[in-house]
Amino acid sequence: MSIQKQLLSILENLPKHVHLVAVSKTKPNADLEEAYAAGQRIFGENKIQEMTQKWETLPKDIQWHMIGNVQTNKVKYMAPYVSLIHGVDRYKLLKEINKQAAKSDRIIDCLLQMHIAQEDTKFGFNKEELEAVVTDLKANPLPYIRIKGLMGMATFTDNQEQIRSEFKTLKQQFDWLQTQHPKANELSMGMSGDYVLAIEEGSTMIRVGSKIFGSRNY
Ligand SMILES: *Cc1c(COP(=O)(O)O)cnc(C)c1O
Repeated sequence: MSIQKQLLSILENLPKHVHLVAVSKTKPNADLEEAYAAGQRIFGENKIQEMTQKWETLPKDIQWHMIGNVQTNKVKYMAPYVSLIHGVDRYKLLKEINKQAAKSDRIIDCLLQMHIAQEDTKFGFNKEELEAVVTDLKANPLPYIRIKGLMGMATFTDNQEQIRSEFKTLKQQFDWLQTQHPKANELSMGMSGDYVLAIEEGSTMIRVGSKIFGSRNY
């Protein structure tokens, strides 16, 4: 199926409150242009250099989401344009984003990444660390950061019940965050293999790559 057809088949069944991030990492501009022509405006990348190159050449009304792990020293390259940073997994990174956002005279939207999977390779805060960060932010507000919600990745497994229970955990953490930050209204969970489940469990933003663009060659 073409990129356009895949995209439209996903959008057709998407509830209105759920945003689709088209994950275009490793894919050439031509693929993004095809999705753009079908109306897609939110693209997700996981490397700052690749995202910046695409931002420089592709239409300016695209919203670029950083979904990968961010190296502190590279924040400055995306600060002028990034629309949402999904993978904020440490306080030091929030401080650097705040600093670079100030230099660009912007307020940058961020999601805090939670560790919900069983693998220890996946990054993110646990519940106690989330509470500590939120408390820190109350004591020392970072004026150029806006906490928009949470992001998480489930374990890579066929066990649907396990994935569902990890999504439920993330949703509970999100509900708690909303008691502290009532304006945090985005829950980024669900990828090609599990986004239907994620939406059932309360996702407001799905990050879908291979189901739109086909498998990736690294
Ligand atoms: C690559 C990636 C995705 C998309 O994965 P697919 O399985 O291709 O849909 C989603 N989220 C993150 C954080 C990713 O790195």
